[in-house]
Amino acid sequence: MASTTSPAPSSGATPTAAPSTTKDPITLLSTILRLTEERIIPLTSAGVSSGSKVFGAAILSRSSLRPLSVSTNNERESPLLHGEINCIQQYFTLPLAATPEETDQEGYRIPTKDTIFFATHEPCSLCLSGITWAGFNEFYYLFTYEDSRDLFAIPYDIEILEEVFRVKAPGDDEKTLRERPLYNRRNKFFTGRSLLELLDEATEVGEEEKEKWRKEIKRVKELYDGLSKTYQEGKTKGVESASVWK
Ligand SMILES: [Zn+2]
Repeated sequence: MASTTSPAPSSGATPTAAPSTTKDPITLLSTILRLTEERIIPLTSAGVSSGSKVFGAAILSRSSLRPLSVSTNNERESPLLHGEINCIQQYFTLPLAATPEETDQEGYRIPTKDTIFFATHEPCSLCLSGITWAGFNEFYYLFTYEDSRDLFAIPYDIEILEEVFRVKAPGDDEKTLRERPLYNRRNKFFTGRSLLELLDEATEVGEEEKEKWRKEIKRVKELYDGLSKTYQEGKTKGVESASVWK
């Protein structure tokens, strides 16, 4: 942070967190699930086979919901190339769209405030910071931190936030400290939600329709079972990776 009097990132205007999604929740949800299955999972499959983690990310145009950048974890190369960071880095190598035709076209970049960010797994402290510094103000994730810990045997998102960032307030005991949220999911920079929370916001559909979408979320989550297994097997075999926390 450049100075204590200017809490916003120093480049560009102060971003404003989106209060709730600017797209109708079901359209956004179905687009993200399709993108995960058709684009992110095939990339992830190649990544885990060579020693990278299962995490992926995408940047979508807020107006058309077209994917502008899709990437996965590349910790084989560097421990900092998480799916989200890799996606942001690749996005910023793209030329800024200069014409209406280029806007919303893959291969071109638009201002981050005009995009929606998706991370397959709830972003870790590094990626939360990357998302914030790059000016993304609305993000979604498929798996929560608890899923990463319990389903993927990757506890570091929670552990790093607890150990590095969580400071006892006056009056806190171990119990009240543990009960505190690990970060502000709604703040002046961004609003972050799981896909299940996004579904909850879909007031235009009934319970039957919602149940259908809950099942669809579950089905896409289950596509990660095999990927996680490949990663864990590679880890056991000692596949080469720059990752420190495996
Ligand atoms: Zn991360």
